[in-house]
Amino acid sequence: MKTLCAHSKLSLSKRAHEQGSQHAGTYFDGLADRRVAPAQSDIQAMDVFSESLPLAPSDPSEVVTMLHEHGSPATVASAGARFFGLVVGGSLPACVGVRALTAAWDQLATTQLTSPIAAQLERTTSQWLLDLFELPKDSSVGFVTGTTMGNFVSLAAARHQLLHRQGWNVEQQGLSGAPTLRVVASQEVHFTVEKVVSMLGLGTDLIEYVPVDSNGAMQAEKLPKLDDRTIVLTQAGNVNSGAIDPIGEIVERAKQAGAWVHVDGAFGLWAAASESKKHLISGFEQADSWVTDGHKWLNTPYDCGIAMCRHPEAIHQSMATAAPYFEVGEFMDAKDMMPELSRASRGIDVWAALKSLGRSGVQGLIDQCCEHAVLMAKGLEDLGFDVLNDVMLNQVVATYAADESMVSRIVELVVDSGEAWFGVTHWQGKQAFRISFSSWVTTDADVLRTLKAIQNAKESLNL
Ligand SMILES: *Cc1c(COP(=O)(O)O)cnc(C)c1O
Repeated sequence: MKTLCAHSKLSLSKRAHEQGSQHAGTYFDGLADRRVAPAQSDIQAMDVFSESLPLAPSDPSEVVTMLHEHGSPATVASAGARFFGLVVGGSLPACVGVRALTAAWDQLATTQLTSPIAAQLERTTSQWLLDLFELPKDSSVGFVTGTTMGNFVSLAAARHQLLHRQGWNVEQQGLSGAPTLRVVASQEVHFTVEKVVSMLGLGTDLIEYVPVDSNGAMQAEKLPKLDDRTIVLTQAGNVNSGAIDPIGEIVERAKQAGAWVHVDGAFGLWAAASESKKHLISGFEQADSWVTDGHKWLNTPYDCGIAMCRHPEAIHQSMATAAPYFEVGEFMDAKDMMPELSRASRGIDVWAALKSLGRSGVQGLIDQCCEHAVLMAKGLEDLGFDVLNDVMLNQVVATYAADESMVSRIVELVVDSGEAWFGVTHWQGKQAFRISFSSWVTTDADVLRTLKAIQNAKESLNL
């Protein structure tokens, strides 16, 4: 390598990239029909990776080929059509293609200077997102690793703003001796939000929990008295039922009191992109901050979350690397609006998704997933299962009421069969399983094939 010229060195990259593309092609060709969970034998075959650190270099293309030969079979086919876990979807075609190109670019999306194209596409995509969700045009948009970090950024801004109003600069003075902030969340708040509350020193013991209705949405009338030191954490998309909190009603109460309302919309925020679903989330645009994932319902690759905030200056004050200085309407470098300094341009992935889908394509994706959920729920009922949630979005929670203890056995058999992948959950005191529809790849036929696998599992247990 030492004696090669730059031309020759880069031809190694080109060859390795071509090798990767060729294997990716083979992988895609097999994806629709392969097992979703890998077979035990494929997991055992990963033994080749349990070697000690190589002493000498290997041919880069051979490294890629080794990964394909022994690694590809040990993947979970979450990029395929019958993975229904964790509310994530496969990557859209344009995203897959763009990733191949951006692998060659290797851009540092830190500032306009380190990558003009990344900065440009993140600017464009930010406006598109605000447009799509009908949020204030001068809101800030940050492309982070996921909703967990998006919640972190948003709540850091909330912490800044509420304490600033109390005459306290939390970034400089810290939390000890600071006025206490209150955090109000529903009993069904996602566990990663509690993690963020702990990371920000707000204290999980201090969370004031609000009861939920039978579908897992916060009961607005049960909110405690709010004040201007309170952060209210609402949720769009309960990870089990898909329920969306009555955000409009919550915002109304919170605004009067001067509280900050945050929307964790990891997947549920996308309801706003569908004409037939947007009524479920009405009023959310009045909140102070919103977070959603790219890598869940928008089907971008990992890891990609989007943090949006009505108060860009509060984001800047809590995230700026140099002395914070902000003028409304100014374009801030990414490094001053989010935690990371060196980072990939996740905005390019979101750009590729939105550019290839367009407004109608996004709506089509959301609506199709919701229709699959209805089809699945109906099929499960025909098979003698009880659907426990109100299927108004992309989630189905079901149990086998005749013998709840059989639920985990049924799920295990389906996953072992390789036909589909979903998990067990607890829902309102019941042992249940959850099937999430978030992938552009899934078709009606895949829903029916999954139902067949569930039926086979049930029959093999003589149920
Ligand atoms: C998935 C999810 C999260 C966490 O998002 P990540 O992208 O995995 O960090 C938070 N809240 C809700 C409601 C979720 O569904």
